[in-house]
Amino acid sequence: MTHWNAVLSAASEYAQQYLEHLDDRPVRATATSETLMRDLGGALGDAGGDPTGVLRALADAAREGTVATQGGRYFGFVVGSSLPVATATDWLVSAWDQNAGIHVLSPLAAVLEQVVTAWILGLVGLPKTWSAGYVTGGMMANFTSLAAARHHVLAAVGWDVEGDGLIGSPPIDVFVSEEAHYSIANTLRMQGIGANRARRVPTDAQGRMRVDALETMLADTSGPCIVSAQAGNVNTGAFDPIDRIADLARARGAWLHVDAAFGLWAAASPALRHQLDGIERADSIGTDAHKWLNVPYDCGIALCAHPDSHRAAMTIPAPYIVRSPLERDAHEFTPEESRRARAVPIYAVLKTLGRSGLREMIERCCRHARRFGEGLRAAGYDVLNDVVLNQVLVAFGSAETTKRVIEAIQRDGTCWCGGTEWQGKTAMRISVSSWATTDEDVERSLKAMLAAARTAGAAGQT
Ligand SMILES: *Cc1c(COP(=O)(O)O)cnc(C)c1O
Repeated sequence: MTHWNAVLSAASEYAQQYLEHLDDRPVRATATSETLMRDLGGALGDAGGDPTGVLRALADAAREGTVATQGGRYFGFVVGSSLPVATATDWLVSAWDQNAGIHVLSPLAAVLEQVVTAWILGLVGLPKTWSAGYVTGGMMANFTSLAAARHHVLAAVGWDVEGDGLIGSPPIDVFVSEEAHYSIANTLRMQGIGANRARRVPTDAQGRMRVDALETMLADTSGPCIVSAQAGNVNTGAFDPIDRIADLARARGAWLHVDAAFGLWAAASPALRHQLDGIERADSIGTDAHKWLNVPYDCGIALCAHPDSHRAAMTIPAPYIVRSPLERDAHEFTPEESRRARAVPIYAVLKTLGRSGLREMIERCCRHARRFGEGLRAAGYDVLNDVVLNQVLVAFGSAETTKRVIEAIQRDGTCWCGGTEWQGKTAMRISVSSWATTDEDVERSLKAMLAAARTAGAAGQT
């Protein structure tokens, strides 16, 4: 017992020191790769070291070598952080070290996946019959979903893609918007469909797929077809009009996938969920829990309206033993076999927050985003998007000026925002996706942004 006690107590101590320190450190990493390499690298010695000593060295390196994404003032990319109960539960998952791929290896992991799946389907308003695969993240959720799609549309024309591959198969028409996340193109590459096969549907000023354009493009196609829509643009937060896209996909006999990596959680809010209208008509949905649901990495979810196609795409066919659904082997719905019990932190988060807590967390992030938008606009800067979710795009003048402001903000360290290109303009992106962000964090960050803008010579327009 004692050898557990020493390392787990040390880890708990270091973790708490790290987390309690988040508020008074720069958000950016202050160590360079060179100093980290110097401190941690070198040849692997023959003699081992003391485990608590190894932990201490890592904890020391983490102080300056990490980015404070766990704090309340990291607004780069769309990453989320991790709720305290989720982090703590993740420790338990590691302590138990369950293999969640196979039911007999962990009845607990298998049952919790079923519980969590039912909750999520309920939150989004999807039928209980949908299947779910718990994967490493949004990219793999899209991968898993589109593998099910590929299976389904080719099986419909009598082609066994898992057995016979894509060489010589009937072609698949794939439609994605010009604003689709690159993980969709990456998926098409990995699946042998080819990224260039995707036909790019034009988008509107907010980055939403234009339904009229999709309709025209679909009209001159026939045969196997996949349409991939998006709920939550990584720049603007905007949602494709899923309901109208579903009309077209249905009429065409196409599979409709929705990449809802962070946007799916808008379903928790009555004020936001209309943006997902029609989501229940999708054939598959890819989402992330490690972003806006605020569980630790790695956790994405592939949801599928066609469990047989989902399973067929991920499993070598074997006589299917129909057991109780509680005894389902989870690996039959994911690319991996052995894996950690990813549903457990999701369970803890949903159970702790309840529907109202989840709604509150999602709405709070959106309120913070609106406050950023208002504050920057009031100072005369150009907010480029309609702030409909948790994303804000702002330009501080010319591309050069905006880049200088972003650098100044990162250097200052009060908060962290990154740059992006939006419809030909260089912009700064603010993504509010952490449970930890408070009103005070927003005001402090806004102040730092405006000060950095002044330092960098960006003149507000008012
Ligand atoms: C983040 C994101 C992905 C990829 O998810 P990962 O968890 O990083 O693999 C895919 N699509 C969208 C819209 C995203 O925001």
